Amino acid sequence: MKKGKLEENIIPWGGQMVTVQKKSIKNVYLKVLPPEGRILLSVPRGYSRQEIEEVLDSRREWLLSRQKLIKGKVIKPSKREYVTGEKIQVWGRACELVVREVPGKKARVVCQGDKVLLFMPGYATQEQRRQVLHEWYRYQLEKAVAREKAQLESLVGKKAAEWRFRDMHTRWGTCNVQARRIWLSIHLAKQPPEAFRYVAIHELTHLWEANHGPAFKARMDRYYPAWRVVRKNMNARADFE
Ligand SMILES: [Zn+2]
Repeated sequence: MKKGKLEENIIPWGGQMVTVQKKSIKNVYLKVLPPEGRILLSVPRGYSRQEIEEVLDSRREWLLSRQKLIKGKVIKPSKREYVTGEKIQVWGRACELVVREVPGKKARVVCQGDKVLLFMPGYATQEQRRQVLHEWYRYQLEKAVAREKAQLESLVGKKAAEWRFRDMHTRWGTCNVQARRIWLSIHLAKQPPEAFRYVAIHELTHLWEANHGPAFKARMDRYYPAWRVVRKNMNARADFE
């Protein structure tokens, strides 16, 4: 078969740009390329624009589902295994996890510069390492609340009856107004300290205003003028693993 020159065109299709290659081939080949999910279509030389669009239209569902899969794979962070060398966040700082097996019964976590040392007794499972690390994040948050709550409560002019901590994956905090009980996600301990303060102030402000209406926002603007920026940054770097 004579090879000849490759003819490549980029055509619009269904709101996106598709790369079409005309080649000396007999069959049609359709690919979705990582990382952005770009569509590459190879067709025999004689194919018209209409025939090209017919191919794309007939494979529309498959193409869109492939793109979704590929993009999802790229954006989704790799699942944490809690092994040496993994990067974890501590109060907004990137730290390296170092797992050491030591004799004894009790696991412990030590923060040393930009390393977080996880001492595990014997052969710990991934789930056990995760639990120990999450317990440590909870402890970090408890300490932060103990250290800062008097100041934050006097800023807002309300006191919580109780501060509690939970492995929450979809919210940073919640406030039970009746019981005056504030819950914070343990994953806040991965965020910079200002994010912790923003969430604590937000939940305390619920003791004035139950919903997020204009009165709530006006209070937030008064207590913590930078809250919008802090919220945007923390959601951009959210890590609930
Ligand atoms: Zn709220």
